[in-house]
Amino acid sequence: RPILEVNQLKKTYGKKGTLYTALENISFEIEKGEFVGIMGPSGAGKTTLLNILSTIDKPTNGQVKIGGKEITSMKDNELSHFRRHELGFIFQDFNLLNSLNAGENILLPLALDRKKIDFMEERLARVANILGISDILEKYPSEISIGQKQRISAGRAMITNPQLIFADEPTGALDSKSATELLQYLAEINLKEDATILMVTHDAFSASYCNRILFIKDGVLFAEIIRNGTRKEFFQKI
Ligand code: ADP
Ligand code: ADP
Repeated sequence: RPILEVNQLKKTYGKKGTLYTALENISFEIEKGEFVGIMGPSGAGKTTLLNILSTIDKPTNGQVKIGGKEITSMKDNELSHFRRHELGFIFQDFNLLNSLNAGENILLPLALDRKKIDFMEERLARVANILGISDILEKYPSEISIGQKQRISAGRAMITNPQLIFADEPTGALDSKSATELLQYLAEINLKEDATILMVTHDAFSASYCNRILFIKDGVLFAEIIRNGTRKEFFQKI
């Protein structure tokens, strides 16, 4: 079964008279191991959609299942647990804690869960190896580059081996070289851990790393393209 099942999603803001429809009739599925992009112009509804799928916001209508579990009817206490265990987040602005070093930032979701030290160390070593950050784990956020910060944030997102990783404009704050590196690392996570990634981006170069792209405009899913062939060929189609 698909990791993510979205059925007839609708979101309106405001009330009668000033009702604004931000999303309408959104249905799609994502299979395990996919790297999916969401593209669309500003105001299209991307953030609204991501907030609903990541359980931060509730839809007006429709269903969302993650790993077969209906999330739209979960209670708040259930949701925070679900979010911490089953979802990973990469933000545009990293969201790292400055008082923790890189390794501690990555381990935070496991530490909050009181996992065994041996397990955490083993998992951290693997994640750091995949992301090429083994030699900066002792450093603090103020001591590393923005590209390294975003790789730390990717490490934190994947440390629990979540069902789904959400990335909202992850290269938004990065220069072109660190952006390319980050995308290559996301592709590695996708490949080596069979991680399922959903990335919002407005940038065709970033989107070309995905295996499928959904296009949203005016709150409606209006196109989808699937990558077959090289990344370069895909880039030219976007
Ligand atoms: P995108 O991320 O694609 O730029 P958003 O999801 O942020 O789009 O916004 C989609 C539309 O919904 C926009 O017109 C925005 O102004 C509106 N919108 C988003 N959040 C709210 C809110 N909390 N209240 C009212 N309108 C909102
Ligand atoms: P983006 O960079 O994704 O387009 P926006 O600037 O549209 O982000 O929105 C930033 C935040 O403000 C989002 O959480 C969105 O839901 C909220 N927002 C956007 N438009 C409105 C609005 N008209 N009223 C209230 N909140 C809004």
